[in-house]
Amino acid sequence: MKTQSCISGLVCPKCQNRYDHREAHNLCSCGSPLLAEYDIRRAAAAAGPEAIKNRPASLWRYEEMLPVLDGANIVSLGEGWTPLIPLAAAGAKYGFGKLYMKDEGIIPTGTFKARGAAMGVSKAKELGIRHVAMPTNGNAGAAWAAYAARAGMEAHILMPEDAPLITRNEIVAAGAQVHLVRGLISDCGKILARSIPARGWYDVSTLKEPYRIEGKKTMGYEIAEQMGWQVPDVIAYPTGGGVGIIGIYKALTEMRDLGWIGEKLPRLVAVQAAGCAPIVEAWRKKAGTSEFFPNSRTIAFGINVPRALGDFLVLDALYRTNGYAVAVDDAEILKTIPELASLEGTFICPEGAAVFAGLKKLRAGNWLKAGETAVLLNTGAGIKYPDTLKFDLPYCPVDGTV
Ligand SMILES: *Cc1c(COP(=O)(O)O)cnc(C)c1O
Ligand SMILES: [Zn+2]
Repeated sequence: MKTQSCISGLVCPKCQNRYDHREAHNLCSCGSPLLAEYDIRRAAAAAGPEAIKNRPASLWRYEEMLPVLDGANIVSLGEGWTPLIPLAAAGAKYGFGKLYMKDEGIIPTGTFKARGAAMGVSKAKELGIRHVAMPTNGNAGAAWAAYAARAGMEAHILMPEDAPLITRNEIVAAGAQVHLVRGLISDCGKILARSIPARGWYDVSTLKEPYRIEGKKTMGYEIAEQMGWQVPDVIAYPTGGGVGIIGIYKALTEMRDLGWIGEKLPRLVAVQAAGCAPIVEAWRKKAGTSEFFPNSRTIAFGINVPRALGDFLVLDALYRTNGYAVAVDDAEILKTIPELASLEGTFICPEGAAVFAGLKKLRAGNWLKAGETAVLLNTGAGIKYPDTLKFDLPYCPVDGTV
């Protein structure tokens, strides 16, 4: 059955070139990522907060503003509509007005990468694509392998040998073709670029296809809807490739144009690890693009991206919303995981912990004011990182008592 999708084309944010959404595209001829564009007037007439209220609890509830044209092409594992959890104890401890966590840890495959994979694979299916290929640090590969398997599509995944074993196992179990590389994700990307012409696979690397971002933007729609179409003062996000924060900004401007939210947008905060902070460095210099961050290192492997293809879009979103970019070191991240778990019962991923650590700094410096409302994104489940925390525990003798 046809969806209510109001997609009207693909547009280059750099040179404004337009492309047909009924054909498969990667980057613009100028090298920029492409963004999906919608007929806002038609979408606003077709749906609004009232109509959406009673729809299924998944990201597909925003179908007017999603790219899939035929519902038969939707490949779903029940992704989206994750909880927005108030963090009352953690908020009170650091003097936040209101603090919420959008918890992506319970989504299929355990990270928000499922949103991008669900949308990207569904649209690839609609376009008749049979083979998708990508480099990954782990979480994206796991999500795309799962959705490709469900779609009956071949996935070709290149990953560094030291990417987390759990994600490697997920990818192999899903039947994808895995190629291990003794190098970095950037090396994987180069191998893929060399192989694609002969293979004819569809390159679904971060931001090289336009629909992953359409899946990830639904986090922005959900936050607004879950807050009664009132946006918070601040939304903070762990920024690697930047798809999530670009997507949330895209969602906010779309909702504003649709009249679903007011004119005032939240200030967006990009949080990075101190060991890989190209966006933070660029933001400090008020630069429009970032520079390659050499020898990057962090336990938060999802945000270990030394240079993002969409850096200019991330920075633009920060500048336009009077946002901020902040770095936190791995020691702070490691401390924050058990802190939040013990205060709130939420065992989150290192990337999510980085966000809370970053927000604490912004609150301490009063950039985030006492009465303000902040939403932090936890992008994955702590249980996907079984070896990140190490606790030394005392033993009780078997014949002893406690
Ligand atoms: C990929 C990833 C990120 C970074 O997301 P981008 O949208 O690429 O910036 C953050 N957290 C986790 C857990 C990830 O897997
Ligand atoms: Zn262009």
